[in-house]
Amino acid sequence: MLVLGILGHPVAHSKSPAMHGAAARALGIDAVYHRFDVLPEFVGDAVRGVRALGLAGVNVTVPHKEAVMPFLDRIDDDARLIGAVNTIVREGTTLVGANTDAPGLVRSLEEASVPLDGAVVTVIGAGGAARAAVVGLARAGAREVNVLARRAEQADTLVRDVQGALSARVVAGDFGALEAAFAGTTLVVQSTSATLHGAADSAGAEAFAASLPLGSLPAHATVIDLVYKPLETTVLRAARERGLRTVDGLGMLLHQGAIAFHRWTGREPPIDVMRAALETQRD
Ligand code: NDP
Repeated sequence: MLVLGILGHPVAHSKSPAMHGAAARALGIDAVYHRFDVLPEFVGDAVRGVRALGLAGVNVTVPHKEAVMPFLDRIDDDARLIGAVNTIVREGTTLVGANTDAPGLVRSLEEASVPLDGAVVTVIGAGGAARAAVVGLARAGAREVNVLARRAEQADTLVRDVQGALSARVVAGDFGALEAAFAGTTLVVQSTSATLHGAADSAGAEAFAASLPLGSLPAHATVIDLVYKPLETTVLRAARERGLRTVDGLGMLLHQGAIAFHRWTGREPPIDVMRAALETQRD
């Protein structure tokens, strides 16, 4: 039996067990995917446990995506560049760290037929998800990526960390630069947690959306919100009401999982089965 799981704290809300369980069942793979609620002080023990207990692999979520890195034997180049691992793959006794958020985002946008080659992207926020978005979209052919955060220094650090490795022009700024950046933007990536249900009160999420100068975007621009709870965030609703094209964050969740599943099992993931499992999950 393949033993898989997710390391996080908390993890009770994770939709990943349903998605991976459904995929394994559809392919006739004998597998179990468990939620491991790991306290921060036990992250190293948990990662060593993956090797010692012979798990095939695990996902890693908040707050452990950076903390697991010192305990791995090898880390993929882009995971290293992003500075976060969301997937651990066990190869014999070797633990490999990967970041499937970046290609997962790219696949979700490709699936929605959003043009990425030559794209001019504005990433709002500069946390872990933003770092994955910048690297993923630059690798997918974006020409320019503006990283705008409420704390300019967080955006500066992100850009400093990645720009030498990417061919896209990557520029940092704060929210004061949003209006000017939006004017030439083809794709907005909302990567803050401001729109997350429960993270901000609903008035805060509304105010955040209202503060974005969406009217400055070209009519052909697309807006994606990486937050998938709720599926239509305040930012996506405001963008839709302006006639802009919108993409929700569930596709990224789906495809990061599908890429991880492929790395663990070597099998082609049943995308539609995984999507259906996610869609039937109730919060
Ligand atoms: P982090 O905590 O690393 O980063 C959050 C970012 O949001 C920081 O830049 C933070 O700024 C900013 N932020 C939070 N609240 C506000 C606000 N009110 N106004 C402006 N900026 C704000 O989180 P992650 O990057 O890991 O995740 C961000 C979101 O992306 C999560 O809510 C998660 O749900 C989603 N996500 C979705 C994935 C998917 O598969 N669809 C994958 C990964 C993440 P500051 O530091 O100043 O607070």
